[in-house]
Amino acid sequence: MKFALTILGVNAATPAFGRFPTAQFLQIHNDYFLIDCGEGAQMRMSDFQVPRHKIRRIFISHLHGDHIFGLPGLLFSFDLNGRQEALDIFSPAGLEEMILAQLQPGGKLTFPVSFHEIDPTSSRLIFENDSVAVHSIPVWHRIPTVGFVFREKPRPKNIRPEKIGQYQLSIPQIKAAKAGENIQLPSGQIIENEELTSPPAPLRSYAFITDTLYDERIVPHIQGVSLLYHDTTFCDDFLENAAHTMHSTARQAAQIASMAGVGRLVTGHYSSRYKTLEVFLEEASTVFPRTVLGLEGSTYEL
Ligand SMILES: [Zn+2]
Ligand SMILES: [Zn+2]
Repeated sequence: MKFALTILGVNAATPAFGRFPTAQFLQIHNDYFLIDCGEGAQMRMSDFQVPRHKIRRIFISHLHGDHIFGLPGLLFSFDLNGRQEALDIFSPAGLEEMILAQLQPGGKLTFPVSFHEIDPTSSRLIFENDSVAVHSIPVWHRIPTVGFVFREKPRPKNIRPEKIGQYQLSIPQIKAAKAGENIQLPSGQIIENEELTSPPAPLRSYAFITDTLYDERIVPHIQGVSLLYHDTTFCDDFLENAAHTMHSTARQAAQIASMAGVGRLVTGHYSSRYKTLEVFLEEASTVFPRTVLGLEGSTYEL
């Protein structure tokens, strides 16, 4: 079952040096999510062959333009293509008015859109189905802003195929074994669950944290996630700018990654003050070696 993140836009504030503002495409099993939708997101979807028509849910961190200006265009394209499937958009308050005002006077969209307001003051379960749960996380920025954690739901154990024939297991017995139960054969013999099954693959998770000040209150919410994308707008040379604009540096993001014991850190939301990006990787890696430089078009498979 696939769990993969594709970065569409990785720049802060404005497009610069061929980089676009924030947008990410996330596939978890058969669910396709868009996280933020900065200007140019649609063009990046074309560049990287992202199946945009499969997106059913969009998560928006906050209402700064570099995270939402791609949204009216995307909805307009869905409409032109005669989309029928419902779309759910999750964000802090105020997005619906902003977006619908821009889609007027075109009239009604061809598909239903539901806007869901996220309370940015505490962590909430904002979406779940059989395979994934999504929580919001409060972060600290100039306007109400949230991060998101996507966690795979626990799966049943795997049945060892050779045991089905060996013990002539029925369908209900196989189901019970996958759920962790021991099995009693017609002879009365008990077969221990450990013999019949192997454990499911470890659960995977992804945390999206931008735009935010360095804040250790985030750590408990992202403890042990497989992959963390964290605001790295600046490096040490613009430390004061980071505090002033309520963003983080690469070193600070790495400190959060280290404290949270995440699997990998991906950098991003780069300031247009930086033409090249190697310095972000260098600084973050000194604190947290399992850092990868976030680049548009890169896909991170978990
Ligand atoms: Zn931003
Ligand atoms: Zn912002």
